[in-house]
Amino acid sequence: MKMKIKKGDNVQVMTGKNRGHQGRILSVDPNKRRVIIEGVNMVKRHMKLRAARGGAAGQEGGIVTQEAPVAASNVQIICQSCGPTRVGYNITDDGAKIRVCRKCGGEL
Ligand SMILES: [Zn+2]
Repeated sequence: MKMKIKKGDNVQVMTGKNRGHQGRILSVDPNKRRVIIEGVNMVKRHMKLRAARGGAAGQEGGIVTQEAPVAASNVQIICQSCGPTRVGYNITDDGAKIRVCRKCGGEL
């Protein structure tokens, strides 16, 4: 099944310990149905020296804070008119499939 959420979407977490948090989708994992949301569900990880390379200065080999995946079923896309909403699909006149807000029908 295709994910309704895609990279770059603005979403809100609806359930769980991060409920109410909003952020932009950084990546999606269609197989596990999980998403990474910028600044949401931050966890501290102990990094090995090799893995820490390329991180921010001062984080080498220590503890870094990074986003952990959130279940895609726990988040909703934010409609600019309605706020968090469910996603529907419409077919445009030229046959393209677009995502729309179930509440107002606006394109997402
Ligand atoms: Zn809407």
